[in-house]
Amino acid sequence: MSRTLRIRWTIAPAIAPRPLINCNRCGGVRPYQCGEKFRVNANGKRIDAWLIYRCTGCENSWNFTILERRNRRDIEPSLLTALEGNDPALVRRYAFDSATLRNRAGRIEEFADITVGKKLLDGEPEHAAALELGLRLEGTTPLRLDRLLAGELGLSRSRLQALEDRERLTVEPDGARALRKPVRDGLAVRIDLADEADCSAVLSAASG
Ligand SMILES: [Zn+2]
Repeated sequence: MSRTLRIRWTIAPAIAPRPLINCNRCGGVRPYQCGEKFRVNANGKRIDAWLIYRCTGCENSWNFTILERRNRRDIEPSLLTALEGNDPALVRRYAFDSATLRNRAGRIEEFADITVGKKLLDGEPEHAAALELGLRLEGTTPLRLDRLLAGELGLSRSRLQALEDRERLTVEPDGARALRKPVRDGLAVRIDLADEADCSAVLSAASG
């Protein structure tokens, strides 16, 4: 029987990033909140589409450009339908795309709140002594890997660091540096818990 518990965590950011816009109505920089609605404008064959944000101070609007003067025949019909219907999954995809949003708005604020879905892939928590975590991230998060692990496993960050110092904790790719950086999609964390008194508690926390 495998002594390694293999688990996949699917991490979803819970709060969409907010662009920081110089609001001409408020007269200063304000966070703008995603209104969860698209605006689609057809000018002949040319299509523009935006995701609409509202100033948290005054409701002034700001447009997050999704399509800019795109020829209608170059757009997937299903995409156009989803845009016109304010499809929540499509709203989420754009609203949580921090990189593009930052690119368009200049500055954004991000939130570390996440939800974690845990799926046991192999092994039994009662019989394992090592943990192999595969991380899947939907979108991006500013949450550091050590904070994620500390929160979900019930281990302090200093303890995680000590495990890493003793080479009981490894991260692929990037190694230990990854601990202090934001969680990324595709990271694999391996923790050898054979010498840890609270091994079973950590393994059961890991599996949900
Ligand atoms: Zn405003």
